Amino acid sequence: MLIMMIEDEAALREVVEYNLSREGFQVAAFENANDALIAVEDCPPDLILLDLMLPGLQGLQFLDILRQRDQRTPVIIISARTSEEDVIRALERGADDYLPKPFSLKLLETKVKVALRRLSGEQAPGSSRFSSGGVSLDLDSHRAVCGDSELQLTQKEFDLLALFVRKPGKVFTRNQLLNVIWGYETDVNSRTVDVHMAMLRKKLADRGRYIKTLPKIGYLWEAGPAGAK
Ligand code: CA
Repeated sequence: MLIMMIEDEAALREVVEYNLSREGFQVAAFENANDALIAVEDCPPDLILLDLMLPGLQGLQFLDILRQRDQRTPVIIISARTSEEDVIRALERGADDYLPKPFSLKLLETKVKVALRRLSGEQAPGSSRFSSGGVSLDLDSHRAVCGDSELQLTQKEFDLLALFVRKPGKVFTRNQLLNVIWGYETDVNSRTVDVHMAMLRKKLADRGRYIKTLPKIGYLWEAGPAGAK
């Protein structure tokens, strides 16, 4: 597994690189996002650790370019910017997770493993295609199609949609969604769920209406099985 780290603070870069290598990961560390952008093309990583305040290209700009290129590599933000606004902005722009500095190496390792495990879980045996309400998902190719157009989803949005489309009519509480999708990440709360659900609903456009909100409880996908409108 190749992990790309973009961090301009040399000491932090070194300690993270050392620790992740010891855990058996291959680490490609960069001190600026411009170089990293070229490397992403040449040698696509399995996961990216991204600092926000960088010399040259900023973390969020890097993220924008990555997502515009349709690269869905999981991105974990590591930043000293810790306001709710910063976290939400990064998630909305396509980050999968957010780790405020300073952080424990143990927590970083856990988050990295959870994100990678989620990736491999999507290639589980059995049927990999699901559809409901005109929305189709292929877990193998990681594609989501809504009507005639392909959806551009972040990792988390895709995971959420997969959960709903596979179980139409099932109510998921915010806590269940937190547990299933975010695992044991500790810096997330029900607001995180709401932000992702709102983005998902927006991206689904017309079919966003299938996502029903149950106030104070959670969400459900209210559409029939394959072929239903
Ligand atoms: Ca920095």
